[in-house]
Amino acid sequence: MGDNPASQVYVRNKIKACADTSIQSFEYRLPAQTTEAELLALIDRLNRDDSVDGILVQLPVPRHISEARIIAAIAPEKDADGFHPINVGNLVVGRPGFLPCTPYGVMKMIDSTGYDLTGKRAVVVGRSNIVGKPQALLLLRRNATVTVAHSRTENLAEVTREADVLIAAVGRAKLIKADMIKPGALVIDVGMNRDENGKLCGDVDTAAAMEVAGWISPVPGGVGPMTIAMLLTNTVEAVERRLA
Ligand code: NDP
Repeated sequence: MGDNPASQVYVRNKIKACADTSIQSFEYRLPAQTTEAELLALIDRLNRDDSVDGILVQLPVPRHISEARIIAAIAPEKDADGFHPINVGNLVVGRPGFLPCTPYGVMKMIDSTGYDLTGKRAVVVGRSNIVGKPQALLLLRRNATVTVAHSRTENLAEVTREADVLIAAVGRAKLIKADMIKPGALVIDVGMNRDENGKLCGDVDTAAAMEVAGWISPVPGGVGPMTIAMLLTNTVEAVERRLA
């Protein structure tokens, strides 16, 4: 909805990824003044459409629309983003459901290194509903000892230096400096920011952090593409569940 430039880039990338993997996608580009009732009616129509397996509403929506009501209106079995309260609840209690794409992608990245999280100290910086909180739950599920830091955390550097696994999901360019990282730590940078030159960068000061970290994910080209890959994975899982 509306003309948020970042949203337009994300939507374009998702459409391209669908095309690349032979998933048929449909875009509904709505003007910013669309009413909540009109958006809910569209979601209801897609919920009932048997040719549709996955639905997502690109966030943020304009302020006159309730994000919570929109997310709750998507059929949980078509909730490709994994944001519906039923899927969030399933994540909390450890039942199968759709996982939010960004933290799901981060787990795949960690797994690709062969790193065993059991007993390890994991620190997630950020506590949003779409990244930080579900990320902490997924790490906990894998037997890490998890700390969640946020804007009110005192002595952030002291907390992050304890981390064997450090996930930065803040939205502040280069907030995490090399001296905030434990030597050899596995660092995943979720942030997508612009630096002082307008260049895309993460929450981690990557060039300096590379000297300290054992593993580090780049921005761009790290968590972003993984998020889209997990969106496609969730959609395919929705098909498999429908056919099961
Ligand atoms: P939110 O703004 O919703 O949350 C940011 C979190 O960071 C909050 O919990 C906030 O704390 C915390 N925070 C803010 N400032 C500080 C600070 N100085 N020290 C410690 N914690 C701080 O952002 P999102 O979770 O939606 O996104 C985070 C970043 O990840 C953004 O850069 C976003 O663009 C990126 N992103 C990337 C995706 C991808 O696909 N690559 C997908 C989703 C997000 P508090 O709760 O106290 O306010």
